[in-house]
Amino acid sequence: FDQLDGYIWMNGEFVKWADAKIHVLTHGLHYASAVFEGERAYGGEIFKLTEHTERLHESARILGFKIPYSVAEIDEACAELLKKQGFKDAYVRPIAWRGSEQMGVSAQNNRINVAIAIWQWPSYFDPEQKLKGIRLDIAEYRRPDPRTAPSKSKAAGLYMICTISKHAAEAKGYADAMMLDWRGQVAEATGANIFFVKDGKIHTPTPDCFLDGITRRTVIGLARDRSYEVIERAIQPEELEGFEQCFLTGTAAEVTPVSEIGPYRFEVGEIAKNLMNDYSAAVQPKQAIAAE
Ligand code: PMP
Repeated sequence: FDQLDGYIWMNGEFVKWADAKIHVLTHGLHYASAVFEGERAYGGEIFKLTEHTERLHESARILGFKIPYSVAEIDEACAELLKKQGFKDAYVRPIAWRGSEQMGVSAQNNRINVAIAIWQWPSYFDPEQKLKGIRLDIAEYRRPDPRTAPSKSKAAGLYMICTISKHAAEAKGYADAMMLDWRGQVAEATGANIFFVKDGKIHTPTPDCFLDGITRRTVIGLARDRSYEVIERAIQPEELEGFEQCFLTGTAAEVTPVSEIGPYRFEVGEIAKNLMNDYSAAVQPKQAIAAE
C-alpha cells in the first residue's frame, strides 16, 4: 500500500505517495498517540466532510493534542487532494499523530503531524456477499468502559482490539465480528455500528462507549424520514434470537445487511434493503440548483 501512485498531503504539502514516510521512533507508533478519520467521496464530493474533520479535531482534543490546521484548512486539503488524485469515488483517510522529537510516554513537545491519503476502496465487504448479508462472529474482546478508554475519540489505540477481533473472525471464515461492551451488552462491529429490526421497528445500541457514527446518525435520519420507529437502547445478546433483520452502518461499510451472528440468523429484509438504497441516494452530491 505504500507504493501506490499519486500524492499524499503531509503537513501542508503534497508529497509523492511512496515518499510519505515517518521515523520508527514516532510517538504515535509506540504509544498510539494518533487519531484518524474515514470518509468517502461520491461523484467528486466528500460526504459530510466538515463533520468528519470536526470529529478529527475532537478526537485529538480528547487525546490531549491540538491539530495545527483548522477544520477549514483540512477540508480544503481533502478536497484538493481528491481532485489531484483524479478520483470521483474514493476513500479518504486523514490522520494526526505525535511525532518523533522526544521518546517516552510523555511527549509534550512532539510535533503534531497531519496527513491525508485518498485511494479507491470500492467495497469494504465483498459486494456479492453484501447483498446476501455478511456473517459475523462474536468477538472475545469487549468495548471498554468509557472510564477505561477515551471511547468518543476515533483513536488508533482503540483499534487494537478491533484488528484482533476481525482477524480471529476471518480465520473462522466470518466477514467480521460483533463486539459486546464491557457490561456484556451488544456494542458494534469492528469498524461499523449495528442495527436490528423486529416487528417493523429498528433497534440500535445507545452509543455510550463506542463511536456514534456519522453514517449511524445519517441512517437514523433516513429511517425516520420513512416513518420507521428507531429505538436507541441497551441491547442484550440474548435478544439476538428474536430480531428479524440486522445491518451495519459505517463510512466504509455504508449499509451492509447481516445474515448471521454466531448461532443467530437474519433475513435481508425490506427495511435493511430500503435503507441501503436510501443511503446510496443520500450520499450522491446534490445537483447545484441552476440559476434562474
Ligand atoms: N465504529 C467503529 C469502530 C468504526 O471504526 C466506525 C467507522 N469510522 C464506525 C463505528 C462508524 O462510524 P462512521 O459512520 O462515522 O464511519
